[in-house]
Amino acid sequence: MKEFVYTSSPSRVVFGSGALNRVAEEIDLLGVSKVLVLSTSGQVKRAEHIVDLLGQRAVGLYSKAVMHVPLETANEALSESKRLGADCAVAIGGGSTIGLAKAIALKSTVADFPIIAIPSTYAGSEMTSIYGFTEGGVKTTGKDPRVLPRTVIYDPDLSLSLAFKLTLTSGMNAIAHAVEGLYAREGNPVMNLMAEEGIHVIASEFSRLKADPANLEARSSILYGAWLCGTVLGNVGMALHHKLCHTLGGAFNLSHAEVHTVMLPHSIAYNASVIPEAMVIMCRALDTGSPASCLQKLARENGAAISLRDLGLPETDLDRAADLAVAKPYWNPRPVERASIRELLQNAWEGLLPSSDY
Ligand code: NAD
Repeated sequence: MKEFVYTSSPSRVVFGSGALNRVAEEIDLLGVSKVLVLSTSGQVKRAEHIVDLLGQRAVGLYSKAVMHVPLETANEALSESKRLGADCAVAIGGGSTIGLAKAIALKSTVADFPIIAIPSTYAGSEMTSIYGFTEGGVKTTGKDPRVLPRTVIYDPDLSLSLAFKLTLTSGMNAIAHAVEGLYAREGNPVMNLMAEEGIHVIASEFSRLKADPANLEARSSILYGAWLCGTVLGNVGMALHHKLCHTLGGAFNLSHAEVHTVMLPHSIAYNASVIPEAMVIMCRALDTGSPASCLQKLARENGAAISLRDLGLPETDLDRAADLAVAKPYWNPRPVERASIRELLQNAWEGLLPSSDY
């Protein structure tokens, strides 16, 4: 056993079909009473239901969360929170809504502003103390313990409305956290266990769900896997793959989950030669000899885009993408070289098989 440091994060997880109905009880446990409910405009009906469940504890609803937390949205939501005298937030939605709650918690003048997150995708933000804002197209991220949701309510019923395509790409986004966790500098055996189980459950449920998107058992398993993968994301640093996805998502406005799906096989192939132990775990989790091509095949066969071209990125942007990806690189087990990254991006743009020669 190698040396390691393991720090657990102080968050409470309530999991199960119908768990949403426990939101008022969970607010009372936190000792707060003036809740601002947050959502995107697309999920406002659900947010209104939360307001009903909270009764007098709800002081307002802000339903303008959008992708990548634009600074103007964060400032407007913060003003609304102050105006209403909110002392906590309940965020129902994906990473965009949870990201907005984090922005409020970070900037709030209320000393302790807890968040209850009720995730409806598999992006994993609910398990991390990472926040981010976008200003003038540039995304700034940071870490602060104040933004870690104090309670997370995982209710698989919420994912019944998630279209199969988003289920697939968001599930791949979750798998990407686990994959990078397996070779993270701060990796540890507890995270490895969670990562292996997370990859395994998510990848093995896609076909059952494709055949029957209303299968609650399969949706429940994927959500459990997403919790595991999100926990890994919250505990260890991410590497090249996340740098590539943040670059492509932030600078070229490509959809977060779809970019992860296209890029993950290529990122694994890039690092494969220097991460033998992680590869063994990935092979076991996916029951394959080649995790990179297995994940690409899984995406393709289930109907996800596997090329950056299909996501709408012009080929002429690849040089800039390569420049941005190698500028201020995240730590990665293999040195990040521009020529290899440019080749990787070309293959990803064309939707070719991930190559062991990057
Ligand atoms: P999202 O939150 O932007 O949601 C995508 C769309 O799906 C939205 O329109 C939303 O309303 C809709 N939606 C969500 N759940 C649904 C459901 N169950 N049924 C029907 N529609 C639903 O997407 P995301 O992938 O969850 O989050 C992406 C954002 O989160 C990015 O900005 C990313 O950077 C951020 N993120 C942050 C962290 C972190 O730790 N801070 C981690 C992961 C992702």
